Amino acid sequence: MNATTPPTTTAPALLARLLRQGLHVVATSGDTLQVWPANALDDDTRAAIAWHKAELIALLTGTHGPTLEAADDERSRCCDCYHLQAKGNCAMAWRGLLHDAPRWFTPVKDVLWRCHLFCGWPQ
Ligand code: SF4
Repeated sequence: MNATTPPTTTAPALLARLLRQGLHVVATSGDTLQVWPANALDDDTRAAIAWHKAELIALLTGTHGPTLEAADDERSRCCDCYHLQAKGNCAMAWRGLLHDAPRWFTPVKDVLWRCHLFCGWPQ
């Protein structure tokens, strides 16, 4: 992939992968996006981040539009999951059950994504 070739991943999937890998992904003032440590990024991932920069910032700042808000598919939010702990970390990651995630994985709570370990609260 290069700067003119669309990545094969979507912005939410890219964000989820970066967070699972334990990278820090932060949108700061204006249209600045910071991802670190930089030495953990390969060229394709850098290009995908650049391609999806605006949407990643929107996801991180909660300014994404209604198409991402429509939870009519298999995506869910960690804030609705039984496994999200009071300290903000994921209990499944702590137990080593969330693939590629560090033990203290603290997901972005209100981003829709697919997690096979999602467990909704009992009604
Ligand atoms: S199990 Fe999945 S959905 Fe639940 S808190 Fe952990 S990462 Fe989020």
